[in-house]
Amino acid sequence: MTNIKLHPRLDNGIQDYPVIEGFVGGTLTCLCESNKVEVKVASQTLHNHACGCSQCWKPENARFSLVAVVSRDTVEVVSNEDKLGIVDETAAIQRHYCKDCGAHMYGRIENTDHAFYGLDFVHTELSEEKGWSAPKFAAFVSSVIETGTPASSMADIRKELNNMGLPTYDALSPELMDLIASKTAELKGTLQE
Ligand SMILES: [Zn+2]
Ligand SMILES: [Zn+2]
Repeated sequence: MTNIKLHPRLDNGIQDYPVIEGFVGGTLTCLCESNKVEVKVASQTLHNHACGCSQCWKPENARFSLVAVVSRDTVEVVSNEDKLGIVDETAAIQRHYCKDCGAHMYGRIENTDHAFYGLDFVHTELSEEKGWSAPKFAAFVSSVIETGTPASSMADIRKELNNMGLPTYDALSPELMDLIASKTAELKGTLQE
């Protein structure tokens, strides 16, 4: 089903992600023609994945975003910080976006009790460097129905993702769900080592 547009970086399979030993990150730039917001990310990313939720930033005509995490202390805005705004200050993930072009430059969690506190969410397609980690799974797949994908297309979409090696989940990956549940257990005092 080649007529399903998942994401420009997925539609021809996962081929844009050469493994480069010792890759140490790069610079994300927004989509403005000039006065670009630039965000330096001084590390490789983890947990890169396709996300079907309605909150993550995605390019036009894409059903999924591609989003990964990095330690927040490796993320630094280096140009045009004054163009950044926060999409929703009450959301768990505060998505810092360019007010001119709309690109989300990084998502940050300020709640220290959140399981992912300390991690920022980034879209490495905004960087020209090669060597970023490749997507490894697809999360919140069923949620693309909420943004206008017919439910009847879901079997094909899951198949296409699976065919390129991305297991599909309707929440996050089991590893990340376990992290969230562990944090909940820790806060409740029920966490067993
Ligand atoms: Zn911009
Ligand atoms: Zn998402």
